[in-house]
Amino acid sequence: MHLFRRGNLKAVIFINGAAFLSTLSLSEICERIPAIVWTTDEAGSTIYGNSRFRAYFGLDGQGTEGLNALHPDDAITLPVKIRNARREGLDLIADVRLRRMSGEYCWFALSSSPWGDGAAIEYCWVAVKRNKRADANFVQRVADSWQASHLIHSETEILEMVARGTATAEVFDKVCRLVEELIDDCFCCILELSLDRRHFRFGAAPRLPGGFKDAFDRSEVAAGLGPCGLAATSRRPVEVLDSASDALAGTAEGRLMLLNGFNVCQANPILSPYGNTAGVFTIYRQRHAAFSLFEQQVVDRAINIISISIDRTRHEEALVRRETQVRRSQAQLVAAQRISSTGSFTFDIRNNEYMCSEELYRIFDIDPSLEPDIYDLRKRVYRDDLAKFDAELQRALSGQSIDVTFRIMTSHASLKFLRGLAQVSYHVGDNPVLVGTVQDITDFKNAQEALQRGEEALIRAREDLAYVSRVMTISALTASIAHEVSQPLAGILTNANACLRLLALSPPNIEAVSETARRTIRDTLRATEVIKRLRGMFARQPSTMEHTDLNELAREVIVLCARDLHQKSISVIAHLETKPLQVMGDRVQLQQVILNMLLNARDAMGDIEIQPRSLTVSTHLDTEDSAVLSITDVGIGFPLEDADRMFEAFFTTKQDGMGIGLAISRSIIENHGGIMWAEPNDGPGATVSFSIPLRRSPQ
Ligand code: ADP
Repeated sequence: MHLFRRGNLKAVIFINGAAFLSTLSLSEICERIPAIVWTTDEAGSTIYGNSRFRAYFGLDGQGTEGLNALHPDDAITLPVKIRNARREGLDLIADVRLRRMSGEYCWFALSSSPWGDGAAIEYCWVAVKRNKRADANFVQRVADSWQASHLIHSETEILEMVARGTATAEVFDKVCRLVEELIDDCFCCILELSLDRRHFRFGAAPRLPGGFKDAFDRSEVAAGLGPCGLAATSRRPVEVLDSASDALAGTAEGRLMLLNGFNVCQANPILSPYGNTAGVFTIYRQRHAAFSLFEQQVVDRAINIISISIDRTRHEEALVRRETQVRRSQAQLVAAQRISSTGSFTFDIRNNEYMCSEELYRIFDIDPSLEPDIYDLRKRVYRDDLAKFDAELQRALSGQSIDVTFRIMTSHASLKFLRGLAQVSYHVGDNPVLVGTVQDITDFKNAQEALQRGEEALIRAREDLAYVSRVMTISALTASIAHEVSQPLAGILTNANACLRLLALSPPNIEAVSETARRTIRDTLRATEVIKRLRGMFARQPSTMEHTDLNELAREVIVLCARDLHQKSISVIAHLETKPLQVMGDRVQLQQVILNMLLNARDAMGDIEIQPRSLTVSTHLDTEDSAVLSITDVGIGFPLEDADRMFEAFFTTKQDGMGIGLAISRSIIENHGGIMWAEPNDGPGATVSFSIPLRRSPQ
């Protein structure tokens, strides 16, 4: 047993090669050692002696007569031994005889070691009686009890470190050093396993060379790695007693052991509370020696501490991960609510407790720091919507799900449109909780209204265009119209003159006058009819759907255009379905479509020299429930790729064209539930057609 001092109060005690750090003062330590202990200066003068020292040599107080009691023979040999030991820098260990107060000599095992870390060197002397077996056992017992108390003390210290949250590396290092102190010829290594248990993470190995860290850190957990890998995968301790063993052959760990002179290795798996491998604690030794009971206890305790430390770290890591996740998802929620302008709330119905998201307060334009309640929110609801809001809230509280749109008045006196969804949930806590969201849909509402306004404007524009197009079409027919009207007018004039002449005869020819008057009436009716039709087409009147015969419409338009076409040397062939084709539609609009088709056919033949110029107006039943009207000409035609483009607004190939006729025609036909298309003919010219549903005859 040797004593060394470090600092003023701490001492290192070596017992059988193991070192213990004590926090006791020097005199306290020396009093507890069951041996004669004293200290001297360099010259050998005694400075301090414990109570056993004083009792043995019969000294009172602080007297220092100890070394005079040395046996004369030993007094010769001991100084030589002391000199040798000091020259070699070794501790002195010698058997000497010391004279007791009573005069008798007893054998002692004397050891001496330098004591102190200051400038003046002191020596500590420990003399343990040799001749009594019981004393030797006693020394052993003392050594054991030192070790045991050191183990407990250190273990407590390390566990306190774990509890304080000291870094794992520091805890592992301390565990390794403790085990290495308490077990002779012992080199420890702690490896942790990654969370997925696929890789090793180096923990600590204070006395091992760096090669061990390099070999293990981040290496894959596999039995082929050596005893550590095997212990981790099999979850059983693996012991190798000879470095030449097959278990080590070809393994990285085996190579390291050979390289560093380790013959023995004991790898212990560290199991988590759930039975998974969390790490491996390995002890490398140069010689094989079975562990004493105490040593095995040390190893077991070390494994226990390592397991607790890893477990705690993992829990902490998991906690940090969870906290991070919660923080992240909260941030995401806030961002998502912000982006979607949606706030949320929960209301514990029994406890009358509210929780509103930041966004909800923002939407309601309320400062959250004022800790507003539902009534503050309610105060914002626009007065016209308050009754609806209250009624819906009551419905929600009674357990029904609600979806309500209401308005609020912000602090800047502007109206906001909100949509609220809520329903009672029984899964949030112990009590029924009203869970809901409120979305600011003001922008959406405004956009919707703008869209509606836009659509209405579009419809109006389309109507205006249709009107303009109609006026233009009809003005193009002025000649025809004039003819249509002037012909009956001329007839009326002629007939009126004839009447006058016949009445002037004596006697007047009453019969002829009557006949002439009848013709006058007929012509008047005809002129009136033409004017009526023209007024109908010119007038801005809302569309009226009525039963009408497609053939009749076609005939009327042909009549209207006949003279114009005749003047342009275009003959009209009508191939009309023999049966009336009853459709439900707006007569004026459908006539405009047919008229537009006729005039386009006319224009297509305007510049061509071919004879005869003719166009065919045909109608037929397409299927059971639709009728088709086509106008075929022998004009210039159009390239196939224009077949669709010509229906686009403002597409025109004419010098003075507007390109809106077909676009309007198609939209009229589509409004009637039909379709309109154009195709080039196999021969010259083109055919433009539409098909519209027939009126269903009543069942
Ligand atoms: P616009 O007559 O003012 O040009 P439309 O919309 O009525 O406007 O016609 C668009 C274009 O479609 C015409 O300019 C012409 O190129 C083409 N088109 C229409 N009908 C015919 C047809 N029967 N034959 C050849 N091209 C035609």
